[in-house]
Amino acid sequence: MEYDTNYHQVCSTRTVQSDKKGFFNEFYVDVKDACGDKWLQNYFGKLKSNAARILSIFSDREVCDPVLGVLEHVQPVYKQKDVLLSSQRRAQADKFYLMSCSSEIPDERKELLQQALGHANLAVMRAPGPQVDTAIDNGLSLAMAYRTRATILITMGEGEAALSDLKLATNFGLETKESVDYYCKMAKAYAVMGEKARAEISLKIAEKLAGADSALIAACRKEVAAAQHAKPERAQHKEAVVPALTHGENPALSGAANVVKLVDTKEKGRFVVANEGIKTGDVVLCENPVAACLLPSFFGTNCHHCFKRLRTPVACLHCSGIAFCSAQCMGEACESYHRFECQFMDLFIGSGMSILCFIALRVFTQASSLDDGLTTANLLFEHLCSHQDERQADDHLQRSLMAGFLMRVLQKAQYFGRRKTEGVNPTAVELQVATALLGLLQVLQYNAHEIYHTMVTDEHCFEGCRVIYLGAGLYGTGSYFNHECCPSVAGYYVGKKLVLAATKPHRPNETVAVNYGPIFTKMNLKERQRSLRGRYAFSCNCMTCQENWPLLQKIDKQVRFWCTSANCVNLLRFPKDLAKDVRCPRCRKNISLKESVVRLIKVEEQYREAAEAMQAQKTNEAIDLFKEAIDAFFQIAALPHKDTLIAQQSLLKCLADTGSTFKK
Ligand SMILES: [Zn+2]
Ligand SMILES: [Zn+2]
Ligand SMILES: [Zn+2]
Ligand SMILES: [Zn+2]
Repeated sequence: MEYDTNYHQVCSTRTVQSDKKGFFNEFYVDVKDACGDKWLQNYFGKLKSNAARILSIFSDREVCDPVLGVLEHVQPVYKQKDVLLSSQRRAQADKFYLMSCSSEIPDERKELLQQALGHANLAVMRAPGPQVDTAIDNGLSLAMAYRTRATILITMGEGEAALSDLKLATNFGLETKESVDYYCKMAKAYAVMGEKARAEISLKIAEKLAGADSALIAACRKEVAAAQHAKPERAQHKEAVVPALTHGENPALSGAANVVKLVDTKEKGRFVVANEGIKTGDVVLCENPVAACLLPSFFGTNCHHCFKRLRTPVACLHCSGIAFCSAQCMGEACESYHRFECQFMDLFIGSGMSILCFIALRVFTQASSLDDGLTTANLLFEHLCSHQDERQADDHLQRSLMAGFLMRVLQKAQYFGRRKTEGVNPTAVELQVATALLGLLQVLQYNAHEIYHTMVTDEHCFEGCRVIYLGAGLYGTGSYFNHECCPSVAGYYVGKKLVLAATKPHRPNETVAVNYGPIFTKMNLKERQRSLRGRYAFSCNCMTCQENWPLLQKIDKQVRFWCTSANCVNLLRFPKDLAKDVRCPRCRKNISLKESVVRLIKVEEQYREAAEAMQAQKTNEAIDLFKEAIDAFFQIAALPHKDTLIAQQSLLKCLADTGSTFKK
């Protein structure tokens, strides 16, 4: 089949730039115009290494003027704090909270509290750090915003979230040691959590502090007593489960189970196969990403650090553009990568750069040191496929400019320490970092995984559920799994952790395959091949492609059965007449497939039971039924088989339901 250069170019461009409108595209077009096609094709396009490409964009006179001219202007652009807005929002939150207290209608009350919470969240997000702006709230806007939100959360029955807000209010400067109000709030928060003993301790402290003002304590006591019976407004959402690797972790392959191993062949390179027999449902991988980033469109709804859906966001002390689910996530991010990224978040978004560029940058910003970042980046480039030699001159120019831009941001963020000049001209080590960034941009195109969580409805965890693409990550071991158009494992996520579980049994040494492109049930051979070549420069030669399996709706009911004679491995067509024996062309024995047909009927019956369990939202029961039935199917027959393919897809849905899910 012909190589579709144009299509490949479009696909490749999108991995650098997600948005045509971003200023990066303009920058690239300007530089391309300035250097001229002749230079681009005859000189730049013929450079042999990433180091040479990076050196060229910063020093060759055909390009360096427009490059330096634009990069010179890189400045912090981010969503800043706004103390006035914060205090206004807090006033709104207080107003809605008071209105809710005086409402007698439960639904109205709920709605008002919800509105109060929305305003309080904004007050938290926009408040500057303590003592930044002392003209308003005595520099305590942030602490006061957290305190206001705690009050609302207590009334909503969310004691734990309220306690953590009270703690934050103290951390950010609210005087609490002498505060009756503070201990009363603590008592109420514990009370709604059902922690009576702790509530009593807090009350005792409040009592001591209040001294003669016993009326206040009496009122609080009454509230605490009432609160104990309060049910949370919102049912606690179930926590995602990190599954155990089947037979433990393989010491030679981090994050992978002992049931798999890595092999290295001349023709197919490195990939993962079964080490021993694998059963359906076995967990073969559970791995943290080397680096992962959230898509900008989820900055307002999901934790920047762990990707969890936000309910009560915790803010970065310096910017308002991103949020965290907890003080812990905030601390971890702000001590690591976010201190370099914070002031440039809106610049990144405005550039229109793709999620893969965010990940490339993150490899450096999250590293414990510059050397550590370089080591990681260079190792990844060495081990993963980059297709460096097949890329077009334009592609190299575009990626080199992006690497230059990201390096420039690192300069401005003082990643390299305080620099001697404000100019762009990179030092030797800065050139090394830009070169490594370029390598990452190349390998990420072929090796990054999209990260999904499942959005469920209030009523049902499967009906109406949707898979939501939240971000992307690079997985060291995960990227060693080969692609097949009919995958043998299903992938889902627990936070940022990639989990792969078998959706069919594997014999020892059988390839354990993921699907990172189109799946055969939905796209025909020709389209699949085109898509895989365009996106991954890869020609698929999997069984599904070799045998050209039909789309799901066109699959014949008549499945192929395994020959039943001992030691014979051969697939036989569905018999025309079940009463008669069939002759196996391989072992030349006459065999009966009656028993196989009976077992197939039983398998299909079990698929139906599993589907009913899903309907009843009994996820674990459904998983067990699917596992057993799919294993039984593969003992007697082979794919393609419509019901089994549907069962495998359903099994994936069930497994994903044990991972990260959220309600809208
Ligand atoms: Zn988090
Ligand atoms: Zn920030
Ligand atoms: Zn294929
Ligand atoms: Zn046979």
